[in-house]
Amino acid sequence: MSSLSSSESEEEDERIESYRKGGYHAVRIGDSFADGRYIAQRKLGWGQFSTVWLAYDTKTSNYVALKIHKSAPEFTQAGLHEVGLLSAIAEGDPTNSKHVVRLIDHFKHAGPNGQHLCMVNEFLGESLLRLIKFNRYKCLELDKVREICKCILIGLDYLHRQLGIIHTDLKPENVLLMSTIDPSKDPIRSGLTPILEKPEGNPNDRTTTNIIEKKLKRMARKAVTKIAERRASIGVVRPTVKPDRCLNGINVRCKIVDFGNACFADNPLSEEIQTREYRSPEVILRSGYSFSADMWSFACLAFELATGEIMFNPKKGQDYVEDEDHLALMMELLGKMPKKIAISGALSKDYFDRHGDLKRIRRLKNMSLDEVLVRKYKFSETDAKEFAEFLCPLLDFAPEKRPTAHKCLQHTWLNIGTQIKDEVKNE
Ligand code: ADP
Ligand code: MG
Repeated sequence: MSSLSSSESEEEDERIESYRKGGYHAVRIGDSFADGRYIAQRKLGWGQFSTVWLAYDTKTSNYVALKIHKSAPEFTQAGLHEVGLLSAIAEGDPTNSKHVVRLIDHFKHAGPNGQHLCMVNEFLGESLLRLIKFNRYKCLELDKVREICKCILIGLDYLHRQLGIIHTDLKPENVLLMSTIDPSKDPIRSGLTPILEKPEGNPNDRTTTNIIEKKLKRMARKAVTKIAERRASIGVVRPTVKPDRCLNGINVRCKIVDFGNACFADNPLSEEIQTREYRSPEVILRSGYSFSADMWSFACLAFELATGEIMFNPKKGQDYVEDEDHLALMMELLGKMPKKIAISGALSKDYFDRHGDLKRIRRLKNMSLDEVLVRKYKFSETDAKEFAEFLCPLLDFAPEKRPTAHKCLQHTWLNIGTQIKDEVKNE
């Protein structure tokens, strides 16, 4: 386990070079889409496939998130796949209460770089990764973790049981809060007046100018921090201690997003799914996967929320690859993988010998999950025991033994706070 999160490497902006034929569509504030129905207000984020903009829907007078895909055929195809899944998701949840992002509309937009598939989704707040960063990678209050877990489990239960969909890429970036951390970022709470036409003097290529300006500012900030650190290290000034941030007022209800890689369980798209840190052992070993692969990722995500650190952060070594390190980290925390499971996958022979031991990583440092929680993260014995009892079954090496989202929702750990609150109320 490392003290660094993968998010340390998260880049703030999409690459300028990707604004070309087949790539992103350059958007200027005030640009209109779908025959004038949606007007771009500001950029919300971006991904490998798209840029996402806050837009004003002039038909319903609501703010929405406009996701504009890159224009090359493979991105359009992936986008249409996502539209198909999101349409099924919206159809099955008429009251929009299942904690999955809501698709409002989709259309094509022609621009200088080609035809871009655009998806209009409900506007949501920051991702859980942002929340973890905002909390400075510290342990998040367990009541907040419980509330987030409940939302995600309701979403997963709906996807798995009612629709037969596996998300396949559950991670902090792909769960968004339903309201913003910073109230000034919420167009309604901040009383924003929608921009309905292009502001005067709008430069021709605002996207590029913005990215360059932001890059320069970031470089300047980094240089200032470096000088301050150096001054502190040679004793010129004392380093300042930042007071902890308070998360009390933040509403942590959230929704699952990004169905770009999701699939129906009876029609899996690819053998290699999930982002590295959240990848399940059956996917690493190519033993086949189902809904329970999402449950593994869910457990990794819950751990990360509660501790601020990634649960499994494998690195390749001189004589072993990342996969083998990943399997070693899993066994250090969860015990030895049963031989039958270890040797069952198409890639098992790459990492395990015939006794079911790892080929290149021989000495494992075992420490159980509740010990880690107490020693490394300073959990109380009771908190550690209760949280480990919730997580461990989800991290069973045998996928079919992991509890389903439905079963998990009935776990006592999710209601610990409420029980106490109810008891206090009844006294
Ligand atoms: P990609 O498929 O290209 O990875 P995502 O769907 O993950 O795109 O969206 C990219 C980013 O845009 C997200 O990480 C988030 O910051 C922002 N975003 C996406 N959907 C919304 C939304 N509905 N509301 C607010 N921000 C969003
Ligand atoms: Mg994404």
